[in-house]
Amino acid sequence: MSTGTEQSKAWFDRAKAAIPGGVNSPVRAFNSVGGTPRFMVRGEGPHLWDADGNRYVDLVSSWGPMILGHAHPAVVEAAREAATSGLSFGTPTLGEVELAEEIIGRVEPVERVRLVNSGTEATMSAIRLARGFTGRAKIIKFAGCYHGHVDALLAQAGSGVATLGLPTSPGVTGAQAADTIVLPYNDLDAVRQSFVDNPDTIAAVITEAAAGNMGAVAPDEGFNAGLLEIAHEHGALLVMDEVMTGFRVSRAGWFGLEGVAGDLYTFGKVMSGGLPAAAFGGRADIMAKLAPGGPVYQAGTLSGNPVAVATGLATLRAADQAVYAALDANAKRLGNLFRLALSDAGVANSVQYAGNLVSVFFGEPTVRDYAGAQASETWRFPPFFHALLDGGVYAPPSAYEAWFVNAAMDDEAFSVIEAALPAAAQAAAGAVR
Ligand code: PLP
Repeated sequence: MSTGTEQSKAWFDRAKAAIPGGVNSPVRAFNSVGGTPRFMVRGEGPHLWDADGNRYVDLVSSWGPMILGHAHPAVVEAAREAATSGLSFGTPTLGEVELAEEIIGRVEPVERVRLVNSGTEATMSAIRLARGFTGRAKIIKFAGCYHGHVDALLAQAGSGVATLGLPTSPGVTGAQAADTIVLPYNDLDAVRQSFVDNPDTIAAVITEAAAGNMGAVAPDEGFNAGLLEIAHEHGALLVMDEVMTGFRVSRAGWFGLEGVAGDLYTFGKVMSGGLPAAAFGGRADIMAKLAPGGPVYQAGTLSGNPVAVATGLATLRAADQAVYAALDANAKRLGNLFRLALSDAGVANSVQYAGNLVSVFFGEPTVRDYAGAQASETWRFPPFFHALLDGGVYAPPSAYEAWFVNAAMDDEAFSVIEAALPAAAQAAAGAVR
């Protein structure tokens, strides 16, 4: 199927001479799977094409945003129309009000929204606001949850930090990390104990509404509700990070599936339709503490950029019930194909879902936390990944990532996946530790 990788190789050599590691985000590198990252030149519907002309069924979907598939006509037209009217003004614009209203209309606990440029900015700002609102310093986060590369939140983070096996990052000072308490995911007892051990000092608990950065690991039933109860009992806030799940796993994100109301929310990915935009929001009384109305400072030259807002709005408006039904159906179809192919090849596996986020862990046990993800047979992943790639399927290049379906995946796309899976499952079966 492959027409070679000469162009990607040549561009990667050039990239390495200009960009650290040749990539602008570590998750794009192939460090944990080996080989050359593919340099993509085009996307349409469920497909990507690389610089050598290879076509792939895309199971990364730009790490989440592209729920409609690539270059959706309504989204492209929205970008064109907005760009034609000017790229950035540094003033309030109409579209940002509409996008804020769209978010508020979908996620009930969100009464006010501030737009920013990345999920990292959203979580960084939400944490600052939680600290400013409560007058407290400490934050609880969970091992294996990734909240962007915010200094205070990098400890035992998932995603690229897990992929590269970094305990935390040099450059994060002791002071920046000292107020971060890291606990095991899905462990309410640990949270209770931590509040007892740190009386009146914890500002907030931040959690991925459903974990997707150590693979797809849904919260146990009652976990998020328990977090809310414990946090409130102790005068702290619950920050629900829905950067990954927001507007993907339902029209109201994980909140729409579970109904546990966080005090603050963070969003990104889907709400921008693939351009750089993100948001944080929540209770009006907390959000009122933000500048210019309140004392907690937060700002951004390009925040609410009109083109990003237009593509975000176009994406959300096109994401009707049929789109969410397709995302759910495609995730189930993909997961079933994994399970069948791996079982046929005699590879023990746990296919897991968090809504329509899906991932496969090699080995028997269901993974409930980061220790479980690390204990899975991750060494089977590189040959599995490369066999899929050779078969025209672009998977996340890491054993610790969720797989992102899109609504444009059709029978033909699934037939490519189905054809590639037996060899991939055999490769996983033959992997050596
Ligand atoms: N929060 C979660 C749950 C994420 O998955 C991510 C990115 O993957 C972020 C925050 C950071 O978002 P960004 O990469 O836009 O900074």
